[in-house]
Amino acid sequence: MAEVDETPLSVRKAQDFAQWYLEVIDRAGLIDKRYPIKGMKVWTGYGWKVIRLMDDLIRAHLDADSHQEVNFPLLIPQTEFAKEADHIKGFGSEVYWVTRAGDNDLDVPLLLRPTSETAMYPMFSLWVRSHADLPLRTYQLVNTFRYETKATRTFIREREIHFFEAHTCHADFEDAEAQVRSDLQIMETFAEQLALPYRVSRRPEWDKFAGADYSLAVDAYLPSGRTLQVGSIHQYRENFSRPYNIAYETADGARAFVHQTTYGMSERLLGAIVGLHGDDRGLVLPPLVAPIQVVMVPIFRKHNREEIVGKARALIDGPLASARLRGQPLRIHLDDRDIRPGPKFFEWELKGVPLRVEVGPRDLDNRTVLAVRRSDGAKQPLQLSHLAEEVVAQLMTVHTQLLEAAAAVRAKDEHHLAVLPSKGADFVGIATAHWCGAQPCALRVEELVEGSVLGARVEQTGSSTTPTDVHPPSGATCVSCGGAATKVVSVARTY
Ligand SMILES: [Zn+2]
Repeated sequence: MAEVDETPLSVRKAQDFAQWYLEVIDRAGLIDKRYPIKGMKVWTGYGWKVIRLMDDLIRAHLDADSHQEVNFPLLIPQTEFAKEADHIKGFGSEVYWVTRAGDNDLDVPLLLRPTSETAMYPMFSLWVRSHADLPLRTYQLVNTFRYETKATRTFIREREIHFFEAHTCHADFEDAEAQVRSDLQIMETFAEQLALPYRVSRRPEWDKFAGADYSLAVDAYLPSGRTLQVGSIHQYRENFSRPYNIAYETADGARAFVHQTTYGMSERLLGAIVGLHGDDRGLVLPPLVAPIQVVMVPIFRKHNREEIVGKARALIDGPLASARLRGQPLRIHLDDRDIRPGPKFFEWELKGVPLRVEVGPRDLDNRTVLAVRRSDGAKQPLQLSHLAEEVVAQLMTVHTQLLEAAAAVRAKDEHHLAVLPSKGADFVGIATAHWCGAQPCALRVEELVEGSVLGARVEQTGSSTTPTDVHPPSGATCVSCGGAATKVVSVARTY
C-alpha cells in the first residue's frame, strides 16, 4: 500500500505566490514536469481529466452555437504560413521548423502550428463557394507550439500548449461582429462555470493579434495582484481572406471576400483556477471540472471494514447514482484503502476534491453521513433519506463560495488610477484610467506602473450586436497628458 506523503506545502500562498503555485501543481499531481524538454510537460491521468472536463464544457458551448468540431494537421507548409505579412512578423520568431524527413531535406520546410490560421484558411478557400456556405463556424482542441524565449511557467508560459481555437467565416462585417458578441457571451457562461473573474479589454493597436483588425483580450485576476490573459477574440475583417482567397459568390453574382473571426483559449485557464482558488492545503477545483467531485471515505476499524465499505458502496450505487449536478451524473470516488482516514483527508484536500463525505458507524446509526466542503472546511451532517439532493446542494454551495471568493478578489483588486504613480511605487490589481488614445501617454503609464495598458474596457454584457467600449465620463482627462480622455483603459501588471 503506497504511503501518503503528508508533508505540508513548504510555503504559504500569501507568503510566496510564485513558489506556492508551482508546488501545488506538483503535489496535486496535475502534471509531471520531469519531461526532458523545457516548456513541455506530461499530463497525468488526473490533470488530463481536468482538461478533458474543461474541453467538454467548451464543446457544449460551441456546439450549441452551431460550430463544427474539426481537426487539422499539426504541420503547416512554409508557403502557406508566409501569405499574411503581419502574421509572419508576429509569430516568425516563435516557430518550430521541420526541415528534414528521414534522409531527405524537405523542399518546402514545414512548421509546427503556433495557431492554425495558416493551416485552415487554404482549406476554407476550397470549402467556401457561395453565400449558402456561410457562415462557416469551426473549432478544434489541439496542441500548439511556440518557442518561448522568456522563462517558462507551468500552464502560463509553455512551449507546447493545450489550445482551443474557433475560426469562423461570415458574409459581411456585421455578421462577424455578431459572432464576436456570441463569443463574449460564451466566455461569460464558461467563466461562471470555472468561477473565474475576468475583464475584457480591446487591446491597443500596437498590442493586437498579428493580422487582426482588432483583438479583445480576456484577462483573469490572480491573487498575486497580476492579471493573466486566458482568452482572446479577434475580428479579422478581410485581412486573411484576401491573401488566402476565401471568397464567395453573392446572391447577385458578384464575388466578395468573407469576414473572419477567431476565439482562442488555452490551458492558462487551469493556471488561473490553480492560482485563484487554491489555498495553503493545496488545490481547490470548481465542481464542474473536478475529476472527482465527491470522495467518500469510510471510517472503519479492522473488525467492521467490510461492513462499512459495503454500506458506503451501497450509497454510491443506490441513492447517489441518480444524483445530477447541472444535468450530469456525479463523479464519486470511494477511497476504501486500508490506511487511516487522516492521510486520505490530506491527499484529497491537496488534490482539490470539492466535497468529502465521511461514512462512519455512528453516523450510519443516526441515518446520516458527514460532509466536509473543500472551499471553507465546514462540516455538515447529511440525512440519508435525502442524500442525493443534499450532496448536490453541498456541491452547489462550494461553487457559490468559489464565485464569491473570486468576486472578492476582483473587488479588492479594482481601483481607479486618478494620478500617475511615481516610478517604483507599489501597484497591484487592475486599475481603470482615463486615456486620450495617444501611444506615448500609454507607454508612460506602462513605464510608471511597470505594467501594461490592457486596452479599452469593453462592455461585457449588453444587447448590442457589436462589442462596445466603455465611455469615459464627460470632462474626463487623460491620466498622462491631461488632454481630453476618449477611452477608459485597464492597467495591470501581467504574466
Ligand atoms: Zn494623453
